[in-house]
Amino acid sequence: MILVVKSGGEAALPEWREHFAAFAPGLECRWWDDPALDPASVDFALVWDPEPGRLARMPRLRAIFGSGAGVDLIAADPDLPRHVPLVRCVPPEATQRMAEFVAWAVLSLNRDARRMAIAQARRAWDYFEAPFAAAEQTVGIMGLGAMGRRAAEVLRAIGVPVIGWSRTRKALAGVECFAGPDELTAFLARSQVLVCLLPATPETTGIIAAPLLARLPRGAGLVQAGRGAHQVLPDILAALDSGQLSGAVLDVFEPEPLPPDSPAWAHPRVIVTPHVGSLPSRRERARYVADCIARLGRGERLPNLYDPERGY
Ligand code: NDP
Repeated sequence: MILVVKSGGEAALPEWREHFAAFAPGLECRWWDDPALDPASVDFALVWDPEPGRLARMPRLRAIFGSGAGVDLIAADPDLPRHVPLVRCVPPEATQRMAEFVAWAVLSLNRDARRMAIAQARRAWDYFEAPFAAAEQTVGIMGLGAMGRRAAEVLRAIGVPVIGWSRTRKALAGVECFAGPDELTAFLARSQVLVCLLPATPETTGIIAAPLLARLPRGAGLVQAGRGAHQVLPDILAALDSGQLSGAVLDVFEPEPLPPDSPAWAHPRVIVTPHVGSLPSRRERARYVADCIARLGRGERLPNLYDPERGY
């Protein structure tokens, strides 16, 4: 069986091969642009951002594995072979890493870590008290899927009050859950720190813009770890400048990398991180893909399937 890989660049291929040799002996791992590779011989693909039309030229494909949890760049291919299962990469390590990132970001906002970093760069002993204790600030999580649920659990474990919002209603211990557009305003009004863990879909594109930000409590914090397409960056920066937002941790942008001339880089109330919210190790991702391939072999249903009807 042949797995074609387009994730991490060609330099990452030896590492992918090493892990797949351990978890799926017999699986041949080939680079996406290998000129000697016959597309008709490929059984599986592991990709992040395939060029449109390339997967359609692989008639033997049995599954497409996203190399991340969000598969929007794969699903955007108009020629994507829709009969082939598209699997989001969500090993347990992925949700844990995201939960840790969210906890770090929320606590950084509570402690005003950006102010401390600016002072340190100036060698200035800028003594100030933490603006908020974690237990005083309700965190509202938009998106209660694999990532959002684990983030809620970890925040609850350190005493943070958490509420959540999703498309369909959820029942999570200790988390008041809101659902659908009708309950968005009530959810936002309570979110002193808003965390975005939504997928990129037509419904969620541009959701973090002035009208939404205006419905948050004044001085709210923002943690954006979904997708760059969710946000209107000038609106976020304007809300920071007006005091409607007190700080933001932004992990995702459009485009990526964030251009050097973006005002977000130097904004005194913004922490920029380079889309590192949750990147499980190649070893864990290879283990997950190998497990899925074994499940397919046993005729079992695959986990974390992309649903074209929902768009995520
Ligand atoms: P899931 O598909 O498991 O969960 C998505 C959640 O969003 C669900 O709760 C879903 O509601 C909710 N949702 C979707 N559309 C809407 C809508 N229109 N209105 C309200 N709620 C909506 O995804 P994951 O949790 O695994 O991942 C979420 C996203 O996180 C990914 O798509 C990706 O964009 C991002 N991500 C970012 C990473 C980073 O490094 N920054 C790493 C990994 C992921 P319902 O439960 O009702 O279906």
